[in-house]
Amino acid sequence: APILSINNLTHTYHNGHQALKGIDLDVYAGDYIAIIGQNGAGKSTLCKHFNRLLTPTGGSILFQGESIAGKDTADLARHIGYVFQNPDHQIFSASVLEEVMYGLRIQGFSESEQKEKALEVLAFVGLDAYSERHPFSLGKGLRQRLAVATILALEPQILIIDEPTTGQDWRGTQSMLELIGKLHERGHTIILITHNMQIVTEHAKRVLIMGQGRILKDCKPWHAFED
Ligand code: ADP
Ligand code: ADP
Repeated sequence: APILSINNLTHTYHNGHQALKGIDLDVYAGDYIAIIGQNGAGKSTLCKHFNRLLTPTGGSILFQGESIAGKDTADLARHIGYVFQNPDHQIFSASVLEEVMYGLRIQGFSESEQKEKALEVLAFVGLDAYSERHPFSLGKGLRQRLAVATILALEPQILIIDEPTTGQDWRGTQSMLELIGKLHERGHTIILITHNMQIVTEHAKRVLIMGQGRILKDCKPWHAFED
């Protein structure tokens, strides 16, 4: 059974723009999906529905067989993590360690659990040497890594990352891809929104091509650029 099942999902923004025009999609545990397509195709709009950052205009979304409509968003966030394209809007704390602890505090973990889990995840993503630094003193690549750590601390089954490598140099890109690969190996289901062709051809196991609010193609990476 799919871990996430999307049925005839539509979304129209308040200004009347129809950003999703009937999306059907099953995501399976262990998937490593790259979603590609032109700017404005609806990629972010689609993924923001998976943990109720947006509410559908029509259609349904099931997580592990249960509708997510009406579910508590903090609860959902623990299972389905979303790393924003520009994570700087989500930085709330004065240190890297505090930043990771913050998300755990919201989830109700005790102070000592927050610290223990945060240090563990910072070591996992390779940021342990930066734990006392101010988040904004880090370069863009490391800030994005911090955003991943913050979400990862909640141990979501599904990890959605909006443009994981945009604005990073070659090394930053490679180390982010290595990290995502490790997460996939650990059993996380990975969904990346990306323009990076290396991700599509070398890392993803499944590619969705979106255009004008629809999924145009759902295929193996080696079929993505046929016709
Ligand atoms: P993508 O992620 O593929 O670039 P988006 O999902 O961000 O596409 O956007 C899909 C379409 O919806 C675009 O035309 C975009 O301008 C529009 N859109 C996105 N967010 C909003 C919003 N909050 N209000 C109105 N239109 C929006
Ligand atoms: P992200 O995709 O990570 O949310 P963006 O920079 O694409 O970041 O969008 C920033 C915000 O602006 C989002 O909340 C998005 O929904 C909104 N937005 C995007 N396009 C439009 C649009 N055409 N009209 C209104 N709001 C928009």
